[in-house]
This record gives sequence, structure tokens and C-alpha cells, in this order.
Amino acid sequence: MGRLVLKQLSRSFKNVTAVNNISLTVDDGDFLVLLGPSGCGKTTLLRMIAGLLEPTSGSLELDGLDITNAPSKKRDLAMVFQSYALYPHLSVAKNLAFPLSVRKTDKQLVKERVQQVAEMVEIGHLLDRKPKELSGGQRQRVAVARALVREPKAFLMDEPLSNLDAKLRTATRQELAGLHRRLGATFIYVTHDQVEAMTMATKIALLNGGQLEQLGTPEELYDKPASVFAAGFLGSPATNLIDAELSTSNGMVTVMAPSVEAVLWPGETPRRDAVLGIRPEHLSIHAPSSAAAAPNSGAALRGVVELSENLGSEQIIYCRVGENRVAVRASRSERWIDGSAVVLSADAGCLHLFDKASGRRLEWQPASVPAPVA
Ligand code: ADP
Ligand code: MG
Repeated sequence: MGRLVLKQLSRSFKNVTAVNNISLTVDDGDFLVLLGPSGCGKTTLLRMIAGLLEPTSGSLELDGLDITNAPSKKRDLAMVFQSYALYPHLSVAKNLAFPLSVRKTDKQLVKERVQQVAEMVEIGHLLDRKPKELSGGQRQRVAVARALVREPKAFLMDEPLSNLDAKLRTATRQELAGLHRRLGATFIYVTHDQVEAMTMATKIALLNGGQLEQLGTPEELYDKPASVFAAGFLGSPATNLIDAELSTSNGMVTVMAPSVEAVLWPGETPRRDAVLGIRPEHLSIHAPSSAAAAPNSGAALRGVVELSENLGSEQIIYCRVGENRVAVRASRSERWIDGSAVVLSADAGCLHLFDKASGRRLEWQPASVPAPVA
């Protein structure tokens, strides 16, 4: 079991509020990723869960027990640090045995368990080596194995892949996801890397300035970003975000901005300032004369091609649209000379709308005014 409930958890350092009133539940077996830019409070939140840092206010429950003031070693949680924190003078086998030896576990049992976890992460052949005789990737596995050794209620990991090169990071990411599936244990994993979050998480908690911006599955965060921040953080290239005005025209709700017109759906709305979000993969590119350039519904953006980036498998075409630079993900067979006049189009169902003032998503409710989602 490993069900963790965070209730209104906050932590301040002098005049900085590092974590601000965060409430969330991590279910048994979840792979929760704490995601957000550097300095948003991820490490502070994880350290409070681990018992390495006291909350300024709020509480923590593990499997129904209040652990807010329980010391770290009483929490039955295992932490994997970014720096691995291995004992340099001990062999891999002794590093792995350490968490059990301090609990005075039977010697034979310790030996068996060490062998078992070493095989699980494929370091069985390295047991006699010292940490300095290992590569970065091997050290990372030893750190994970040491966390596995005592079968904790949950694994806590703070950017464990950030010291690995890109190729090894991808491989280790897949191994960790596989390990999570095999163990069925609760993982809480800190990263600023949206790809790690999208690929490993069962749930993502997106943090921004110490606050919980959005909590949901990777699909929910990607398909229905709750705010301008969430829309801009997930996805590469980022969601195109355009300041616009929402109003009614001929019985249809429309979004207007310089060189941009989007006809959404039948209905009425008072004029309001909004932000229109369109993912690069939802835009298609046309010559201004093409019939597809004048859709009956959805968005049409008039612009000029500024630059194309060839990514090998596809290309990103950047266009100037009014004051904005808009990215379009396109097939390499699309060929547009820089300076070409183009029209970009997207279906109405792919458009995201946010309230300009609050930055929160506007959910459309037929025959009523879109209201910001709480
Ligand atoms: P992240 O892990 O998301 O990069 P942190 O949790 O490390 O962010 O930090 C969140 C904020 O709290 C930052 O502004 C950081 O400078 C501040 N902070 C973290 N630890 C301390 C500390 N021990 N003393 C003072 N400020 C701190
Ligand atoms: Mg950190």
C-alpha cells in the first residue's frame, strides 16, 4: 500500500513561499510526476513528503495515518537523489545492503534480497565494484536498486535522470516505467522535463510558482490544458498563444485577432478578452487561393512564412501572423519558400480558449457565456 494525501501543504523560506497551499491525492500504484520549471517548488514538496523538511502549514497522510510530524526514517518511503548519494567506500553489494543492515535484518535474507534487486535492475555483475568504477547510468541503477531493497510504501525520486546523456536518459526512462509496472508500487517523481512526465506518469501535478496549476493524466493535461501556463509548458514546439477577442457574429461565437478569424459554434457571448491556443500539429498550411483556406468553421490565420526547420521526420514552419510567430508542424513534402503568403487553418474542436485576465481555460457551455474553469 502507498496512498498519500497532501492537505493544504505550504512551505516558506523567509520571504519566499516555495510551496503554496497544495492539496492532492496520490493513489496506491500511481506514478505521479511533479512537473514544472526550475524554482517552482518541486524539490521542496518532495522533501516535505520524504520528511526531510517540515511544512510551514498543512498536513500529510500515508495510508490513513497522519505523518506530518513523523521523522523521515519512520515513513517507510525510499528516496533516490539526483546525485545518487552512494557510499563511495562501500562496494555495490554493501551499498545495496545498507538500508537493511541498519534494520538488523538476517544476513542470509539480506544477501538474497540484494541479489534479487540487483538482477531486477541488471547490475548483478557489478556487485563487487565501488561506485567510482561505475558509469553514470550504472550508478543510477545502483541508487534505484538501493531504494528497491526494502520494499517501501512509495519511491520518491528527484530528477534521477538529469546527470545522464540523452540516449541513456531515454533508455532509463523506459526501464523505470517498466519497473513501475512490474512492482505496482507508488512512485513520486520530480522533473522539469515534459517528455519524462508525458511518457512515465499515470498522473501529472503541474506546478507554477509554488502552486498546483493542474492535476491530471498526461492526456488530460495535453488535450485540455487548464491554463495558458499549462498550454505553453507541455508540447514542443509550444502551443501557439494569440491574444484575441471573443464575440458574437451572425449568431456564431467568434474569435478575432489581427489576421486571425475563428468561427466556433452557434451561440452568443459578450465581448471579452481571451487567449486563443492552437497546437502546431493542429494547423495545416495552404495557399491563400486554396478552398481549404476559407473554412466555414474553425480558425483561419493569414500570415507569411518566415522560416522552416527540417527535423528529419517532419518540419516546423514558422509564420508571421499579425504580431505573433506561429509554429506549424508539417510533413516534409510541404514546400514553402520564405516570404510566401499562406493561410493556416485548424478545426474548431482543436482550439483552446483562455480568459485573458485569469489565464484559466474557458469551457464552452452551449447557449451560455463561457465561464473560467475553477
Ligand atoms: P525546484 O525543485 O522546482 O527547482 P525548489 O523547491 O528547489 O524548486 O525551490 C523553490 C523555491 O524555494 C525557489 O525559489 C528556491 O530558491 C526556494 N528555496 C528552496 N530551498 C530553499 C532554502 N533552503 N532556503 C531558501 N530558499 C529556498
Ligand atoms: Mg529541484
